[in-house]
Amino acid sequence: MNQKEYLQEVSDFFAPGNRLDSYFDKYEYRPEQQEMSVKIAEVFSKKEHLLVEAGTGTGKSLAYLVPSILMALKEEEKVIISTNTINLQEQLIKKDIPLLQEIFNLDFKAVLVKGRKNYICIRRLVQFGKSAQLDNQGYNTLSKVHNWVLETETGCRSDLDFRVDYNIWDNISSESDLCLRAACPYYEQCHFIFARDEAQEADILVVNHHILFADLSLRQERGLEGENAVLPPYKQVIFDEAHNIEEVATSYLGFRVNRRGVIKLVESLYNFDQQTGILLQTRAAISSLKRNVKQNLQQNIDNKLVPLVRKVNDLSHSLFNNLIKFIDNKTKGRDRKLRLLESIRAEDYWQDNLMIEFENLLINLNDLGKNLSELLEDVISYEDEIDEVDAVKLELKAKVESILKVGADIAELVNFPEEDYVYWLEGYDEDCSLHSAPINIAQQLQDNLLGKMDSVVLTSATLTVDKSFEFIKDNLGLIEEDVETLEVGSPFDYRNQLCLGVAKDLPQPNHPAFIDAVIASVKEIIQATKGRTLVLFTSYGMLNKVYNSLETQLDSLEVNNIYCQGMKSRQYLVEEFKNKKKAVLLGTSSFWEGVDIPGEELSCVVIAKLPFVVPSEPVISAKLEKLEAAGENSFMKYMVPKAVIKFKQGFGRLIRTKEDKGWIVILDNRVITKRYGKIFLKSLPSGCNILTDNLNSLTDKIRASI
Ligand code: SF4
Repeated sequence: MNQKEYLQEVSDFFAPGNRLDSYFDKYEYRPEQQEMSVKIAEVFSKKEHLLVEAGTGTGKSLAYLVPSILMALKEEEKVIISTNTINLQEQLIKKDIPLLQEIFNLDFKAVLVKGRKNYICIRRLVQFGKSAQLDNQGYNTLSKVHNWVLETETGCRSDLDFRVDYNIWDNISSESDLCLRAACPYYEQCHFIFARDEAQEADILVVNHHILFADLSLRQERGLEGENAVLPPYKQVIFDEAHNIEEVATSYLGFRVNRRGVIKLVESLYNFDQQTGILLQTRAAISSLKRNVKQNLQQNIDNKLVPLVRKVNDLSHSLFNNLIKFIDNKTKGRDRKLRLLESIRAEDYWQDNLMIEFENLLINLNDLGKNLSELLEDVISYEDEIDEVDAVKLELKAKVESILKVGADIAELVNFPEEDYVYWLEGYDEDCSLHSAPINIAQQLQDNLLGKMDSVVLTSATLTVDKSFEFIKDNLGLIEEDVETLEVGSPFDYRNQLCLGVAKDLPQPNHPAFIDAVIASVKEIIQATKGRTLVLFTSYGMLNKVYNSLETQLDSLEVNNIYCQGMKSRQYLVEEFKNKKKAVLLGTSSFWEGVDIPGEELSCVVIAKLPFVVPSEPVISAKLEKLEAAGENSFMKYMVPKAVIKFKQGFGRLIRTKEDKGWIVILDNRVITKRYGKIFLKSLPSGCNILTDNLNSLTDKIRASI
């Protein structure tokens, strides 16, 4: 197929009277979908990048799958489809791709790639079974896992029909550093190896953003180009739900060292309570060596390494305990995130106490890494005489690397902070963590993704702000001349399907009376709608206050139930909300997107407050400072556009099909009283009816129309 035929094939697929049309009894031709699909085919052909905003209902998954499948077959190259949510991955794998397989009648293969830790490692399971010190319940679970391994077809944790505690799964899941690959006695039965081979043969790989960024990070770290990393090599990527990329990429490009992780690492070397760990395994493995060699190595373990492990353990506990107190003191128990500004680093307590503890820990971590490394070299030099030497070598090598990585991260945070990075501490309950993140991901995305791929297509229903792609372009480092843009509207008739009410008589969100006004307003609205309402908040504090108040008045509200984020999983709550009919659902951040409730069960969405990010969050505050330093207005340049994208996501919860109707009520009147408020309203799909009125009048209208 040449380029022209390829473009024609993509266009024809959606055209009335053609493939898609003849498959369905009632086909609704969507020109927006066809336009998007053809545009993607064009950028694939020209090896360009594309930003495409496709309004809700465009059918964007088919719009990108069709050119992707045809391109993968034409060029014999893999195309990656990356999403943010499991729901969308399941829709692609279980619904859209099988549909296309049937319609095309083409021989192509698509697989869902899951993270490695989702798979059981039979070798580790057997090993753990021999050495683990568990209670009765733990042994019971382990025995069930052994039985499950004999039957499972996937080896995936999600297929377990019983609960396996994370502490157990962590010891029996597949890990890159601990995999013997072809030397493994279970290689032929290994589910992960089978899944990796399937991915190798596939044309389309469906992944989540985390796996894709893990792959890109590994490629950067090891300088891999045309070889396998986490994924096989690829040159075309489609990012769906692309508005989330900034957060995912930021978390991958920094580090996080937490107390639990450090202690777990130390205990995996030698657990004094349970008498387990790789040092004991190594000690046992070298018992087959000649007497004097064995004695030397065992003495090295007993007299050098074991005391060092104990020391690192004690120093880590002491440091993290003092850091928790320090964070508590500085944040007064609020927020629990402390950005490491120069002023904090200059404080006497930091300099005279914490720095000394950090340095002490670093010296001993370094020593531990060095001694472990020497032990590994000794093991390698006698490898022909040691039983099960491959497993011991792998474990020791993985531990050396982990210890050196922890040491390097801590050293960067305390001694060598990078200029374009932000560093902070977090302390929750007993755990405490050290973090770094790039302030701006643009350059790294350019270097590791955009500059390396033939085509990257970023799509979402929410990429533009005030009809412009400028914000996402700036944020992701997309250079004007390198990227094409396309905005395709929604096929929904927003003018007739939706009414947007702005309650003008509520106090402003910073007024002490705002929260009581929100409680009263939500109550009034759900009485008018008889439930069937999703209320979106920006903080757990407000969500809980509203829930606690409504819960006591359930009878008078005439609703079947009130579900609140945190009671159960989001999926469970959404299903319950749908099934109960006249119900109310209250949620914060994750409920603003990905909640899909078509039909009259959801007839009203209430937006309690405009969803601004918290400006004191370390990464956000560093971004804002950087913008201000460059002479920009950080509020208009970052805070407002970021909130608009989230606002559009919340707006998109209501109308999911052409039959849906309902109301969106905004209780935050800054959308009409503040200059920036216009940007929120202008960013919504054209044709929306916007009514500004007192809450009482709005609820009268809602009552009359629903
Ligand atoms: S091949 Fe690797 S992942 Fe599979 S069982 Fe062996 S060690 Fe575990």
